[in-house]
Amino acid sequence: MIVVLKHGVTEEKKQQLIAWLQALGLRIHISDGEFQTVLGLIGDTSSVDIDLVESLEIVDSVKRVTEPFKCCNRKFHPESLVVEIGDVKVGAGNFAMIAGPCSVESEEQIVSVAKSVKAAGATMLRGGAFKPRTSPYDFAGLKAEGLELLKIARKETGLPIVTELMNIMDLPLFDDVDVIQVGARNMQNFDLLRELGRLDKPILLKRGLANTLKELLMSAEYIMANGNERVMLCERGIRTFSDYTRNTLDLAAVPMLHQLTHLPVIVDPSHATGIAKLVPPMALAATAGGADGLIIEVHNDPIHALCDGAQSLRPEEFAELAEKVRSIRGIVA
Ligand code: PEP
Ligand code: MN
Repeated sequence: MIVVLKHGVTEEKKQQLIAWLQALGLRIHISDGEFQTVLGLIGDTSSVDIDLVESLEIVDSVKRVTEPFKCCNRKFHPESLVVEIGDVKVGAGNFAMIAGPCSVESEEQIVSVAKSVKAAGATMLRGGAFKPRTSPYDFAGLKAEGLELLKIARKETGLPIVTELMNIMDLPLFDDVDVIQVGARNMQNFDLLRELGRLDKPILLKRGLANTLKELLMSAEYIMANGNERVMLCERGIRTFSDYTRNTLDLAAVPMLHQLTHLPVIVDPSHATGIAKLVPPMALAATAGGADGLIIEVHNDPIHALCDGAQSLRPEEFAELAEKVRSIRGIVA
């Protein structure tokens, strides 16, 4: 349930109402916007007398929120969320350009890619140190050493680092990571999500291979209900009957999610297509469709990449794409 307060209500009256609602056993989420204050009521609202609340002098309107997701519901937060990662902002008109290799392979590789994507206008560096791989015989990342190499690349370029955490046991290693990525395969690892909810760190939550938007939002809810509100969603393609692409990029998810939630929506055209040539057109389409950012795999030597070379752009291809993304942003932003 949400309670929209009238414009100009005093802090004292607002706090009185909040205390009264809390006494009914509810948690209250306060969204103080420029034009209105919205109180989001979380918990069993069956004991709330809607007519009574609506009749209060300071209340403008009361609405039931029927969706099962509350914390990430746009009805609770009419204004889009801006996630701040140091000086980098994402959401509400701030566009994220996250680029880097699928996996961190060596210091030379990650530093060189970081420098080239930074020069091309990237705002954050991606790179996997802990890699979920379909085959147990494939390269699964440099693990703790990979995280150290990412930090070196950050020091060299100033780019915040985005990297995947697969197992909660590894969390202590991620203290100095700027954004923790939850991979598609872990989108419904509820224990992991709960733990990430206790952190004061932005989370990039990728949509599962076969998950609905409602399920994605319920996963965001796990993180947020535990206290961490800094969640960014990522559409990375879903499993369909597509035969020539790795996945199917669900671009309608972007405007749909914008209606449902205030969280930023990032698009990953690399995993969505699996083919480097398809990455630029899909990245541009996502930008035109209102995405709050892109996450793109870039490798200095894609043919010899230890993971996802076929979908990785070369640095110069990324630079060309970044230029075009800026042009599209000039039109749609
Ligand atoms: C990745 O970003 O390298 C990755 C493994 O992505 P996803 O979880 O979307 O497959
Ligand atoms: Mn990858």
